[in-house]
Amino acid sequence: MIKFEKVYKRYDDKAVVSDFTLDIKEGEFFVLIGPSGSGKTTTLKMINQLIDLSEGYIRIQGKPISDFDLQELRWNIGYVLQQIALFPNMTVEENILIVPEMKKWTKEDMENRVVELLESVNMDPDKYRHRHISELSGGEQQRIGVIRALTADPDIILMDEPFSALDPITRNNLQKDVLKLQQKLKKTVVFVTHDMQEAISLGDRICLMNNGKIEQVGTADEILKNPANDFVRQFLQTGLPHYQEKKIVQHLIEENYYSTEDIVTTGIISASDPVNDLIILLSKQDAVHVETSNKHAKIIITKNNLLDFLASEAASSKEVEA
Ligand code: ADP
Repeated sequence: MIKFEKVYKRYDDKAVVSDFTLDIKEGEFFVLIGPSGSGKTTTLKMINQLIDLSEGYIRIQGKPISDFDLQELRWNIGYVLQQIALFPNMTVEENILIVPEMKKWTKEDMENRVVELLESVNMDPDKYRHRHISELSGGEQQRIGVIRALTADPDIILMDEPFSALDPITRNNLQKDVLKLQQKLKKTVVFVTHDMQEAISLGDRICLMNNGKIEQVGTADEILKNPANDFVRQFLQTGLPHYQEKKIVQHLIEENYYSTEDIVTTGIISASDPVNDLIILLSKQDAVHVETSNKHAKIIITKNNLLDFLASEAASSKEVEA
C-alpha cells in the first residue's frame, strides 16, 4: 500500500532519514516510534509530500508519490496532528466540511456526513455541530481533528502524536475510539508516537527508529520477545517500566548453570520454557532433566544451579540500579 524504497532525507548533506525501506500494508495500523529527533515526523510528512524526499521512492498502490497531483494526494490522505489544526472561530460543522466544500459535495451529502462522523465518536450532532471549536475541551477538539481527517473517506490516515497533549484518561478513550474506527473502516493508518505503551496498544506492526534508521519492524509481540539489538532492548526497558525480558531455561544453560552428573530426576522441562516454570518444578524436587534438541546431551538443572543463577541475576540487577 505505502512502500518506501531506499528513501533518504538530507538537510545540507546530513541525512535525517537514511536507507528507509518499508512496506506498509493495506488496512494496517502501522506505528512509527523512536526517541525525539529519530526522523518519525519527517518520514510521515514525506508520505503526503509536506516534506520532499532527497533520494529513493515512496509508492502508494504502486505509483510513486511524485506522479500524483499534489492537491489530490493531500485530499486523499487524512492528517491529524498533535497541535490541533482546527479553526477556533469556526463551528464544528464548518471545520469538518472544509474539504467537502472544496470538493463541491451536495448539501445533503455534507449534512449526512457531519451527522455520521459525530455519531461515530459518540458526540451528539444536535449538541455539537454548531458549537465553536473554542468552546470544546481538548479531548473533544482532538476527536473533531480525527473525524475531520476521515471526512472525505481517505484510504490513508497519517497521525502525528495526536494524543500526546491530552490527559491519560482522555487519551485512553481516544485511543479506543480510533482503534474501533480503524477496525470498522479498515483504513491504512500511519501513527507516530514516542510512547511504547501507546504503540503496543494500537499498532498491528511497530517500526522502531533511531537516528533516521530502522532498528526493528514487527508486531509488538515479536519485538518484545525478540528485541533485535541493544538499542531496542534499552528502548523497551525505558519505555515500559514493567517490561522484563522473559528469561527462558536456555539462559541458564548458556551461562553454565547446569550439571551433567548422573542425578536421578523425575521432572522434565524444555529449554524454551520460561524460568518461572523451572522455579515451580524445582520447588517440588531437587533436579530436573532439560529436554534439548540433542537427544544424547544429558543436561540436569539442580536446585543449587537455579539458586546460583538467581543470585547472579539479583546481583546484576542491583548493579544496574546503582
Ligand atoms: P522526530 O519526529 O522523530 O522527533 P523529526 O523527523 O522531527 O524527528 O526530525 C529528525 C531530525 O531532522 C532532527 O534531528 C531534526 O532536528 C532534523 N530536522 C527536521 N527538520 C529540519 C530542517 N528543516 N532542517 C534541518 N534539520 C531538520
